[in-house]
Amino acid sequence: MVNLGVKAQCRVCGMLAPADEFRLHYKYKQAVCAKCYSGRTEQEKQKEELKKKKEEVTRPPGWDDVDEYLTRASKQRQEEQQVQFSRVPGTEQFKCLCFQCKYSFKYDPVKKIPFNCPYCNAEVPRLRNPGFF
Ligand SMILES: [Zn+2]
Ligand SMILES: [Zn+2]
Repeated sequence: MVNLGVKAQCRVCGMLAPADEFRLHYKYKQAVCAKCYSGRTEQEKQKEELKKKKEEVTRPPGWDDVDEYLTRASKQRQEEQQVQFSRVPGTEQFKCLCFQCKYSFKYDPVKKIPFNCPYCNAEVPRLRNPGFF
């Protein structure tokens, strides 16, 4: 491979790595990144699995369903918040992009209105840190 500086996605670990570092691995029967080639990915996977097994033992029965769902849901919400608001250049105003219908509307971060998307009525997550933008 001569494409120096070009990144390719490793199909074993899913990470992007310089394309010229890829090598054919006898076990995976395909070109993998340097990390996978050296066996580090597999080591980490084994460690992960060991950790998971331990967690399964210490978790009370029925732990994962609800709690894991909630953790994932709140994480998703945070990500939505990060992409949803954008400042209108040169003004104090914000634009909000509805995560549900993708309708874009003006948002007042001080009064925190509107509470709902004017188009589909989906709840608008709070903009926690307006100074960040
Ligand atoms: Zn890899
Ligand atoms: Zn909407």
